[in-house]
Amino acid sequence: MTQNNPNQPIYILPEGHSRTVGRDAQRNNILAAKIVAETVRTTLGPKGMDKMLVDSMGDVIVTNDGVTILKEMQIEHPAAKMIVEVAKTQEEEVGDGTTTAVVLAGEFLKNAEALIDKNIHPTVISKGYRLAAEKSQKILNAMAEPITSQDKELLIKIANTAMTGKGAESSKELLSKIVVDAVTQVEENKKINSKDIKVEKKVGSGIEDSELIKGIVIDKERVHSSMPKSLEKVNILLLDTAIEVKSTETDAKIQITSPDQMDAFLKQEETMIKKMTEKIKESGANAVFCQKGIDDLAQYYLAKEGIYAARRVKKSDMENLARATGASIVNNIETITPEVIGYSGIVEELKVGDEQMTYIKECKNPKAVTILVRGGTEHVVAEVERAVVDAIGDVISAIEDGKVVAGAGAPEVELSKQLKDYANTLSGREQLAVNAFAEALEVIPRTLAENAGLDPIDVLTSLKSSHDKNEKFAGINVFTGKVMDSWEAGVLEPLRIKTQAVKSASEVTELILRIDDVIASGESSRPSMPPGGMPGMGM
Ligand code: ADP
Ligand code: MG
Repeated sequence: MTQNNPNQPIYILPEGHSRTVGRDAQRNNILAAKIVAETVRTTLGPKGMDKMLVDSMGDVIVTNDGVTILKEMQIEHPAAKMIVEVAKTQEEEVGDGTTTAVVLAGEFLKNAEALIDKNIHPTVISKGYRLAAEKSQKILNAMAEPITSQDKELLIKIANTAMTGKGAESSKELLSKIVVDAVTQVEENKKINSKDIKVEKKVGSGIEDSELIKGIVIDKERVHSSMPKSLEKVNILLLDTAIEVKSTETDAKIQITSPDQMDAFLKQEETMIKKMTEKIKESGANAVFCQKGIDDLAQYYLAKEGIYAARRVKKSDMENLARATGASIVNNIETITPEVIGYSGIVEELKVGDEQMTYIKECKNPKAVTILVRGGTEHVVAEVERAVVDAIGDVISAIEDGKVVAGAGAPEVELSKQLKDYANTLSGREQLAVNAFAEALEVIPRTLAENAGLDPIDVLTSLKSSHDKNEKFAGINVFTGKVMDSWEAGVLEPLRIKTQAVKSASEVTELILRIDDVIASGESSRPSMPPGGMPGMGM
């Protein structure tokens, strides 16, 4: 055995791996998370600014929506990615409040870092934060007011708040009403499946021409001009197979030596297609929605029978149609039975903008609706659609949980105040952590003020003094800079936005705080990332 040379480095990781440990790892992770939060911070609230995102293909998105911005940014840093996940969770659970959740996470981490600097161990901070997060759920729940699907006025205010300051601003009155009508239409015993509300966007005319259709609208025209343009009392067939003669999987050759043979071959194909259309006719269907293609000849035969047909219908539309009409999607024309046929009162082709769309209305199950979003340009409709989707999520959350709070910074200030009271009941270091958590919540009213060009310190001071007088819904009027009663002002939000944002933001904070070792494998195809550095983020 040879003696080990003490100066010789020992490699335990393969070449190209990087490792950061201890305070460096924590600092890098916190920094990355803070940068993400900082990026979306300026979009918060009614006076928040928009961002223009250009992807590698040169496509442009103009948006104010936190989760959209973060998804498009293609963030690479592992801790930063965890923050993006917070936004995604918020999007899935509520549909709105994505910026709030991310900004909160950033601030929780920032305040934790200050405690780390004071030599408080991350696990102690973690524990304090967990206590604070649990207490927050209780405080927020106690703060909320009840709401039901009967409270149309309140629900409209919730939708309105979701769309304030977004692309939908100019027509938010109309859109709020549409959103509330849509949600209450599909609601059954406080249960709402958001999939029952389809949002279809169509460029052309103005936002004010957006409408609610009690049925399904699909972005397809009938395949043949001699098919009926509109039908009543319609039997609907949903096909997940092409109405064509399938080409063989392998290359096959047929040898034709005489015109007769050619004729016979074509006849054969023709007969097969004819047979398919006859099967469809026999089923009693007078409208066919096909997820795949429809052969020219089949189109002709179907038209001759007075059957309405649309092809290449999106899978999600097929599923909506199945739910709304009670039809089952069939993948073999041979096996069509009467049970798979669905029903709707009206199928018609209508011109929207300069394109034709198919409306399937008065369905068996009116529990499926479509919101048709209009707007002058592609960018406008896309942003209006995002605002409408946020509003739908908020109204659904409010009805499902039956709880609503007034916003404009009020819940955060109130929560912060009550958490500080709670902190006083704790001892020592945990108290510091709960206080840090409570102070972090103030980032929301502070940011609302900053984004509105107001002095954040003045605003926060007056807000706090109102809350000290037990005005639990005292919020900031971003237009005057004065304190207002957010409830009276109609700035309403579902409780779930707040509970979910606090929950996921604190969870990710705890997760990041507990990391003290980052081992990253070097990918040869990518330039290796400097520890903690985020390429392309100006660091
Ligand atoms: P998020 O992605 O978090 O939903 P938003 O840009 O939608 O971000 O901003 C939401 C914040 O704006 C909430 O704190 C909400 O209370 C506040 N807000 C909404 N409407 C108003 C208003 N009219 N006045 C003051 N604050 C408002
Ligand atoms: Mg919002």
